[in-house]
Amino acid sequence: MQGVTFPGDRRTVLKEFSDPEPGPGEVVVRMRASGMCGSDLHFYRGTASFGGGENTIQGHEPCGDVHAVGPGVTADMASVGDRVMIHHYWGCDACEHCRSGWPQMCDRQNGQTLSITAHGGHAPYMVVPARTLLPLPDALSYKAGAAIGCGTGTAWGGIKRLGDIGGATMVVMGQGPVGLSGTMFAAALGARVVAVDVKDARLDRAREFGAAEVVNSAETDLAEAIADITGGRGAEVILETSGVAGADALEILGKWGRACFIGLPGDVGFRTEQQYKKQWTLMTSWTMSSVEQARCAEFVVTHRLPVDGLYTHSWSLDRAAEAYAWFDEQADGKGVFEF
Ligand SMILES: [Zn+2]
Ligand SMILES: [Zn+2]
Repeated sequence: MQGVTFPGDRRTVLKEFSDPEPGPGEVVVRMRASGMCGSDLHFYRGTASFGGGENTIQGHEPCGDVHAVGPGVTADMASVGDRVMIHHYWGCDACEHCRSGWPQMCDRQNGQTLSITAHGGHAPYMVVPARTLLPLPDALSYKAGAAIGCGTGTAWGGIKRLGDIGGATMVVMGQGPVGLSGTMFAAALGARVVAVDVKDARLDRAREFGAAEVVNSAETDLAEAIADITGGRGAEVILETSGVAGADALEILGKWGRACFIGLPGDVGFRTEQQYKKQWTLMTSWTMSSVEQARCAEFVVTHRLPVDGLYTHSWSLDRAAEAYAWFDEQADGKGVFEF
């Protein structure tokens, strides 16, 4: 089979790999949808200090059907034909982080991440431990399951970190696939969402996904706009997804404000003597636990959220070079490879 690899210089190479076989405790997933995530671009451009390199199949938003099960995989764990999402990390299974559904934080440093240390989903088949599988609800498409596997799940994870947002004025900074998902979830959870981006097309989509107000921060003074919208109080809650607006976020965060920073690379800094009277809560967030990935999918189903609408482009694998050249411009929405 062929899989997509990144040599690291904005090239996309389709390489030949042998068809995977499931070892003990493993399954082979037949890919149906494999999402393109913003973090792929760090590897595509070669700007990440880590990455799978040219011998690792890319794609960490896979979704598909169980194609084959290895020795020791019981029917409780997986059966051929199951529709599955994948939590795209695995660890030692024994440390407190692994046991609480956070294998990406494994203490033992033997953890695996799809597209970095293990082959990912940009190929017709992928082998993973059965314990990474989560059921894909019948009501969700494969591409919805793919998005929930990283980008959309990351927005969910950040909002879960922020706590109760019902009734709050919440600024979502950046309206790429993660930010747009954040807008969608925050609106569904009862926040009054102010969507911020530098592109009007993205702000139009943010309105469709539930934003009550939008601000183009390339054309308008952001601090003034937020002051107008909040009657001078500033944002109660902020989800920063752009990775470039950390300073802006702190400028518009009101007293008792809570802010969650999930965009990379991201600089966030302040002097305590200037800010301590604001009683802020600032936090980071990294994707989501396997437990929350499943809850995110349930929430999407029960609230009938339009996750499929996050996608603006669908590609076949043989057009991967064209797909990533398009994605690299970051002008549009989200892409997916469908099989
Ligand atoms: Zn562990
Ligand atoms: Zn991702």
